[in-house]
Amino acid sequence: MNLIDQLRAAVGTANVLTHDDPGADLSPWEQDWRKRVRGKALAVVRPGSTDEVASVVRAVAAARAAGQSVSIVPQGGNTGLVVGGVPDASGTQVLLTLQRMNRVRAIDPANLTITVEAGCVLQNLQKVADDAGFLFPLSLGAEGSCTIGGNLGTNAGGTQVVRYGNTRELCLGLEVVTAQGEIWSGLTGLRKDNTGYDLRDLFIGAEGTLGVVTAATMKLYPRPAAQLTAWAAVPSMDHAVQLLGLAHQHLGAGLTGFEVMGQFALSLVDKHYPQLRVPLWRDTPWCVLLENADSENEQHARAQFETLLERALEQGCVTDAVVAENLSQAKGLWHIRESITMAQAEEGHNIKHDISIPVSRIPTFVAETDALLAREIPGVRMVDFGHLGDGNLHYNVQAPEDADGQAFLRDWEERVNTLVFDQVLRHHGSISAEHGVGELKVHKLPTYKDPTALAMMRSLKRALDPHNLLNPGRVLA
Ligand SMILES: Cc1cc2nc3c(=O)[nH]c(=O)nc-3n(C[C@H](O)[C@H](O)[C@H](O)COP(=O)(O)OP(=O)(O)OC[C@H]3O[C@@H](n4cnc5c(N)ncnc54)[C@H](O)[C@@H]3O)c2cc1C
Repeated sequence: MNLIDQLRAAVGTANVLTHDDPGADLSPWEQDWRKRVRGKALAVVRPGSTDEVASVVRAVAAARAAGQSVSIVPQGGNTGLVVGGVPDASGTQVLLTLQRMNRVRAIDPANLTITVEAGCVLQNLQKVADDAGFLFPLSLGAEGSCTIGGNLGTNAGGTQVVRYGNTRELCLGLEVVTAQGEIWSGLTGLRKDNTGYDLRDLFIGAEGTLGVVTAATMKLYPRPAAQLTAWAAVPSMDHAVQLLGLAHQHLGAGLTGFEVMGQFALSLVDKHYPQLRVPLWRDTPWCVLLENADSENEQHARAQFETLLERALEQGCVTDAVVAENLSQAKGLWHIRESITMAQAEEGHNIKHDISIPVSRIPTFVAETDALLAREIPGVRMVDFGHLGDGNLHYNVQAPEDADGQAFLRDWEERVNTLVFDQVLRHHGSISAEHGVGELKVHKLPTYKDPTALAMMRSLKRALDPHNLLNPGRVLA
């Protein structure tokens, strides 16, 4: 049997798509979300169970051992932003989509855990948790399409990291198909387990290069009794950091979100989605969106928020603020924040950076780097926003107003990346805070990652995937 026939035998004929199939359209799996790369898959394979994933991996591994230049790219919702989950252009990669594996396997209320398959869409997981009376706190703009397998693959962050941590912190156990096609059943719901190396952590953030995650046991939290959202105008990034300090002090563990948004980023939302009615953005360089989740009641949350905002107004780090009156207004404010990514996509190409820096250094980083860029590219526009509470900025560079976006990318991307990443290094930051490395940043790691760390990563890859079967060319070149 050739490989395609073996794959059909493993998952069923209807679940293997190739370019030779009449009428088959593989583009949804081959095109990355930002539409920067269009690959070509040997086949799109849609397993429905962990055993089927293992059979697929074994079949491709055997073909590779027999000399065929084939490999596997795992994919979830295909919302990744670093070209990590689409095939390359060679036509030799099997695109393994986990989308059919979307079941909730179990909820353990006493242990505060939920076990789900990797293809479960994040929003569905949030809803199942909510229906059971709990909170699953991972939340990001792509939550209607991204999957828990992809969230684990990229160690996604999102808007509540300041309180609940990244996906890594939310995960207690994994089920993984190894590069040899074996199944590791590590779905423990344990918060303590010191029986040696933490294998779970190896697969989280590995972007499908070490194993295929097929299921995960994730943490649940009690639903807060009240949740309040405020939108504040702040006069500078220094003041935004000062406000963050005050928010930690006054809200404690209640502070669940702290987002910063630059004026130009908000002007794009206003331009492309005028129906969203962005508040306070016209007269201030920065706005902050912050959230207080309270375990007592709404009155208590409101009183805390009022004290915080009074103090902030007194100290001059806030010039104006609105507090959402109800849940629907709060959702509206978050929707504005989450629409920035789409609004910049509408505006045209830009040079994206997902960076993290110690919070204390962010104001200096922004002032210095903005000035360097303005000197190099007169008229350049900065689409700055991000999770300031986590020291994570989406520091994106948009072409000057009348410039051609494609030409701007071609002429400036490399230079702008170097300039920004050198600044990140100088300020002891990371060139990828939450989106991962993928193909987009793989060639940057030798310059911006500690050489000893990189050497250990290579050793791990060789140990777990010696034949480079899984997502070759991503994370490590
Ligand atoms: C509008 C928008 C907003 C976003 N906001 C945020 C944000 O706030 N925070 C954030 O962190 N990210 C954000 N992202 C990026 C993206 O949503 C996340 O990276 C998400 O975690 C990807 O999930 P996915 O299922 O789409 O994964 P995919 O894009 O399909 O894959 C991502 C990576 O994970 C690997 N992978 C996928 N499934 C598996 C699996 N089962 N086993 C092993 N590896 C696997 C893939 O090979 C690839 O390398 C945003 C994206 C968009 C489009």
